[in-house]
Amino acid sequence: MPLNYSYPDYEIVRNEKRCIACRVCERQCANGVHSYDADARSMISDETKCVNCHRCVCLCPTKALKIVKTDHTFKENANWSAQAIKEVYLQAGSGGVLLSSMGNPNPFPVYWDKMLINASQVTNPPIDPLREPMETKVFLGKKNVGIERDREGNLVDNLPPQLELQLPILFSAMSYGSISYNAHESLARAAQALGTFYNTGEGGLHEDFYQYGSNTIVQVASGRFGVHKAYLEAGAAIEIKMGQGAKPGIGGHLPGTKIVGDISKTRMIPEGSDAISPAPHHDIYSIEDLRQLVFSLKEATCYKKPVIVKVAAVHNIAAIASGIARSGADIIAIDGFRGGTGA
Ligand code: SF4
Ligand code: SF4
Repeated sequence: MPLNYSYPDYEIVRNEKRCIACRVCERQCANGVHSYDADARSMISDETKCVNCHRCVCLCPTKALKIVKTDHTFKENANWSAQAIKEVYLQAGSGGVLLSSMGNPNPFPVYWDKMLINASQVTNPPIDPLREPMETKVFLGKKNVGIERDREGNLVDNLPPQLELQLPILFSAMSYGSISYNAHESLARAAQALGTFYNTGEGGLHEDFYQYGSNTIVQVASGRFGVHKAYLEAGAAIEIKMGQGAKPGIGGHLPGTKIVGDISKTRMIPEGSDAISPAPHHDIYSIEDLRQLVFSLKEATCYKKPVIVKVAAVHNIAAIASGIARSGADIIAIDGFRGGTGA
């Protein structure tokens, strides 16, 4: 077995005076950190497996547990930070690239945090949102090119299909399988309650969540997992994922160990098989190819749903967005950097 130079990130502090050896922590920890040492007649911990989820801390009946960040140090200097040394050890130990969930761990700028949505000046005259009703409704979709009237002079409704949001915030895409059933249901219910949309990601749509279809964006990605007619018809809009901000230019890999039960059924792939999403769509190598998929999806849904094309926010995004607009897409989603379930 190769030497592992990585010291555990967290240490488990058990207050022996409070611990009554009830073994609740052992039963509740999904990672097998706690166990009972019959010889010593006390609980012991394997901290290498702890992910600091706090489940044992919350459920310990005597509040005997706490998890602390280790103060173990590296010999760092201005060139080699502790983080860099640790990552070298981890990559050498695993032989692979490091993935992290919950967004990128590095302190890259988060422009969203610098954005101010101040809607009180958008009407004429301005209104005071504390005293007068103010709406934050936003429509996403292609605008009609001009006013059209019929022979009687009545306005013709020629507005392409739109998404109507009650507030200018959408949930970004996270697939069922990379996150759990409960997490997907939470997103669906929150989107419905807030009058906005969540996004299936590329894992298909569990049949239990079709009821939230009017608040759902269904995604078509390079692996085409879970894409069928009823799925396309279930959503309020269809998103073609060409790229994503968390890993621009890279596909996806959901390990076979996670492809079980309803996840396998929803993705329409056999249990235990890896879900590999290629980096490109193998039928799209030009704007003309993209246009074919955009219009195939529009045809399949009778031109009733807006089609979104999602790409990563990269340096040549202006040219890419221009091509997407020419492909016939109704909405262009430019995806920022801090995403990724790390699945
Ligand atoms: S749950 Fe708390 S009291 Fe029970 S064995 Fe674990 S640390 Fe001890
Ligand atoms: S914090 Fe979570 S992973 Fe760590 S020991 Fe407790 S239950 Fe297990």
